[in-house]
Formats: sequence, C-alpha cells, structure tokens
Amino acid sequence: ESIVHSYLEQIEKHKDLNAFLEVFTESALDQARLVDQKITSGKAGRLAGMVIGLKDNICYKGHAVSASSKILGGFESLYSATVVERLLAEDAVIIGRLNCDEFAMGSSNENSAYGPVKNNLRPTHVPGGSSGGSAVSVSAGMCTVALGSDTGGSIRQPASFTGTIGFKPTYGRVSRYGLIAYASSFDQIGPFANNLEDTVLVLEIMAGKDPHDATSSSKPLGFSTEIPAIGKKKIAYLSEALENENVDPEVRAMMEKTIADLRAQGHTVEGVSFPYLDYLVPTYYVLTTAEASSNLSRFDGVHYGYQSPNAKGVEQTYTLSRSEGFGTEVKRRIMAGTFVLSHGFYDAYYTKGMKVRRVLKNKTNEIFTQYDLLILPTTPSTAFEFGSINDPIQMYLQDIFTVHANLTGNPAIAIPHGMHSNGLPLSLQIMADDFNEEAIFSLANQIM
Ligand code: GLN
Repeated sequence: ESIVHSYLEQIEKHKDLNAFLEVFTESALDQARLVDQKITSGKAGRLAGMVIGLKDNICYKGHAVSASSKILGGFESLYSATVVERLLAEDAVIIGRLNCDEFAMGSSNENSAYGPVKNNLRPTHVPGGSSGGSAVSVSAGMCTVALGSDTGGSIRQPASFTGTIGFKPTYGRVSRYGLIAYASSFDQIGPFANNLEDTVLVLEIMAGKDPHDATSSSKPLGFSTEIPAIGKKKIAYLSEALENENVDPEVRAMMEKTIADLRAQGHTVEGVSFPYLDYLVPTYYVLTTAEASSNLSRFDGVHYGYQSPNAKGVEQTYTLSRSEGFGTEVKRRIMAGTFVLSHGFYDAYYTKGMKVRRVLKNKTNEIFTQYDLLILPTTPSTAFEFGSINDPIQMYLQDIFTVHANLTGNPAIAIPHGMHSNGLPLSLQIMADDFNEEAIFSLANQIM
C-alpha cells in the first residue's frame, strides 16, 4: 500500500505531463491491501509490489477504456484483457489508464482526443507515440512498468524518445484478447520498464496460449528472469539503414560505435543488404489502414460509447456518431483503408501489399538463417518538438525502422543507448528470429 501511495504522489506531481487519463486510486489501493495481506501470510504472487499502468486501449473490467477517442466516451469494460488477468493473478496493482494517440494511430501523441502527452525529459518535445503516456509514466517514475501496444513501433519509438526500455514480443507470444484492435495481424501488447529484469518478468507472466486469441502461441519462452549469458554471436545490421538520408548523423554514429564495440567483444558483426527499406512504410500503411477500416467499423454509435445527440434514425446515428466521434487521423486511415479494400483497387493495393509482406518475411527469415540477431536504430532521430511535423507522410516516415518487425512478426526491443549532443536519449533496436526473445535479452543485457 505504501508503494502505491508513493506512486500516487508522483502522478500528482507530474500531472501537467498529461500521461494518465485516469488514476484508479480506489481499486489500486484495494488491491494493494489484499496483496499486503498475502505478503504477511507468505502467499504473495511474483508481481507483489509491482505497480502497472495500462495504455488506454487495454480492457480492465469495471473500468473506463477509451483508446483516447471521443467515440468511446462513457464506455466501461465488461471484461479484462487476458494480460490484465494474468498480471492481477500474480498480485500486480493496476494504477490507471494512460493517454495515447487515438486508436493507437500516431507517432507523437498529438492525436489524442484528450490532449498531447508531454515528454518528461523535455516538455516542449513529443514523447513519441502512440504509447506516449505509457513511456512517460515509466520514464518519470509514475509506475514500475506500463503496458503499451505496438502495431508499427508504438512501444519502441516512445521508449526511444523517453530513454526507457520497450519490448514488442513475437506476434502471437502475448494474447491480444481485450486489446482494442487497430490492425489485428500486426498488434502486440508489450511492456515498458526501466530495467531488463522487470521487462522479462512481465513478459513471462503475460506470455502463452490463450483460448480467447486463436493467434496466440503455446511455445514456451524458454528462459526466466535469469537472463542467459550470451556467447559469441553472429549479428547483422542493414547496410541501407546506415546510408538512409533521413537518419540523424549522431544516430548513425551511435550505430557505428555499437558495431565496433560488439566486434571488440568478440561477436561477428556484418552488414547485410536489405533493398526494401523504401517499401516498408508504404506497405505498412496499405495493410494497417485496411485492417483498421474493418476493425473500426464496430464503432457505430449503437454498440459502444458515444452516440450523436443530433441524429435522427439509424443511418444518421451511424454517420453523425462517427463524424463527431473520430478524430482527423483516424478518419484519414479509415478512408485510406476503405479505398485500398474497395472493388477495383483491392488487387492493386491490398493484394500487392500482402505479396510485398511475404517478400519481406522471406528476406528476414533468410537473414536469421545466417545471423542470430539484427541491430538497427529504433528511430531516425531523437524526440522532436510539438507541431514540428505537420505532413502525415513525414510523420509516417518516423516509423521506417520499427514497422519492419510488425510486418514480419519478429520480436524486437528498444534500449536506451547513449545520448545525443542535444541532450536527448538515443536508442538501439535489437531484433531476432520468431520466438527467439532469449537472444534479444541476452544481447541487451550485455550492452546495458
Ligand atoms: N506510428 C505508427 C502508426 O501510426 C505505429 C502505431 C502503433 O504501433 N500503434 O501506425
């Protein structure tokens, strides 16, 4: 209970960052008292003492959830996400729900219906998105761990901008049941933390087969909080990623230094050619907008949340509730997705996108038959100023290094790694073969 109180104080102190949309003071303190009793009687679970924040697209029974959208205003979850059930079963305390880009669409947290989240390291700058509230809550010490969702980098990119660790598991490693869907074949829930031990512990507890999510896997994680030591590894980097003109020179220098350091430690590090860098972002946006347009059709002003008070009849209820309830970026993506799925354009865009996705997966598999790990920058630059990127295409290019792992389903971590001369953190991304999270954590542990 005292831990919860000290986090509540931190949350109060950092109110102006706008990271929390709601603090679950009452249920958190109730749960904390219960856990205290269990500790006294020696029956506490593995997460006793851990205080966790949820991105506002993860359901917690009896609590509001809005995906930071007006369209879910007033909606309360009727059930908990599987990840939440599993964390609670190990005696974690859920402290509140965290601001994010509306329906997890964005790279800067400027798309929330409840205002932007400020970067605690530099409040004039964005915290990244879409899980910006989750990143800031961990970076500023408002909870021990926060959950985010990563469809194209929404955990790793804000981790990069706030100097925290962010992990996207292999697609299927963690159940998506109870996560408000953006693009179902890309979405994964994952943790933000300040150290690897917490990251692994929470992952281990969340991972595994869930009968409610047919895409979840029963493959064992294969290791526990005792992160295995790393032997000499074969590590690849993408040659084109270092040559890319959008990459900040200091990000490139960080990569070059990392490569040299890893070689000095006895690893083999080699550049591999990946001639598809320019196709990653377009393919990602064709396929995710298609899935989003379908997933978001359920918000019709009847089943959930907001209903336009100005509507007469069913037809108007649909159109006005959606026009008034969704924000600009969400509408843009629903329209783009509806277009790529429409008769006459389906083959040219959606089918083509699926084919490119297969090519990307094959090439990535090929890399992992020859190498244990792949290192990349997490982001092309450090956190940028609010309002400085107004062109959606420029914003989408922020995701150039993160969407890869979602297109192919591979696991990937972002770890803080050095400092830019502008005083903001740099971040290294490590990717591995499907379900080889172990290799990622071993290398991260050696580097950190
Ligand atoms: N920035 C990307 C997008 O806007 C990633 C979002 C995410 O991972 N949820 O789609």
